Amino acid sequence: MKPAPLAYARASDLGHALALWREAGPDARLIAGGQSLVAGLNLRLADVPALIDISRIESLCGLGCEGGTLRIGALTTHAEIGRSEPVARHAPLLTEAAPLIAHPAIRTRGTLGGSLAYADPAAEWPACMLALDAVIVVQSETGERRIPAADFFLGLFETALQPFEILVAVEIPVIAAGRRQAIRELARRSGDYAMAGLAAAGTPSDGGLRDVTLAYFGLGSTAILAAGAMRILDQGGDLEDACAALDDDLDPADDLQASATMKRHLAKVLLRRVVAALSPVMSTA
Ligand SMILES: Cc1cc2nc3c(=O)[nH]c(=O)nc-3n(C[C@H](O)[C@H](O)[C@H](O)COP(=O)(O)OP(=O)(O)OC[C@H]3O[C@@H](n4cnc5c(N)ncnc54)[C@H](O)[C@@H]3O)c2cc1C
Repeated sequence: MKPAPLAYARASDLGHALALWREAGPDARLIAGGQSLVAGLNLRLADVPALIDISRIESLCGLGCEGGTLRIGALTTHAEIGRSEPVARHAPLLTEAAPLIAHPAIRTRGTLGGSLAYADPAAEWPACMLALDAVIVVQSETGERRIPAADFFLGLFETALQPFEILVAVEIPVIAAGRRQAIRELARRSGDYAMAGLAAAGTPSDGGLRDVTLAYFGLGSTAILAAGAMRILDQGGDLEDACAALDDDLDPADDLQASATMKRHLAKVLLRRVVAALSPVMSTA
């Protein structure tokens, strides 16, 4: 199927994109890599009168590290993140996550900003942003807003982005000495969206872990921090107690890939695997 007829304009810079959007009205959509949006348009899932192409806006490209913060532009592709040396050094979770996203062709075009704005509950980047305590930077005609990842993902394909706001970058604290990050997921086939996944960080300490973040994906309407399990691990509790706490932390629904019961089981499998990666001592204790 082909999309319904729509208008198209390519923005030369951020100000131009915001002006074009205002002129086209709130139902117009930004297009970045097009890897999610075009499929939706072809299936006619949304009535979109106009597309504003932001893919050539230079200020949204590239990444850099300054003052303990890694800043990644919204147009940085999954593939660029995956092969970036600064990302590998300062946020290795993202290096590990990138190859889990779809297939090479999609990773070459799909962007970080597009993935976060789309907010698919089974996507890797939203969970990574939660696990790394990232800040999402958005821009409108009235100025900039900086939104902690924990406040950005509101529900199924729903974010804190307001009409006429463009996601411009994410800012991530660089990994501290001794801290570890890991991601594990279970998918039916390599490249598929995960049935269940877990992005995590923690600091090995006294045979356990402290300052643990556990961000699950594919297990609810959005990426979720497993607060109860995090608390138990932080307090030096037992791994199996943390697994049990997931029963309260997560409330997955049946979907086409797995039943809710199966998903709860997979969440525990993933926690054991992630803890083994973050703290080999703890997993064998
Ligand atoms: C077959 C297939 C398999 C896939 N598998 C996975 C997977 O396993 N894991 C995964 O995470 N993803 C997967 N994806 C999705 C892919 O990662 C997309 O690239 C990504 O979700 C969207 O990025 P994009 O740049 O293509 O965004 P687009 O498709 O261009 O846009 C997506 C949405 O975000 C909005 N948007 C884009 N950029 C901005 C911005 N800067 N500010 C505000 N709004 C913006 C658009 O208006 C649109 O609503 C898959 C896609 C396909 C087609």
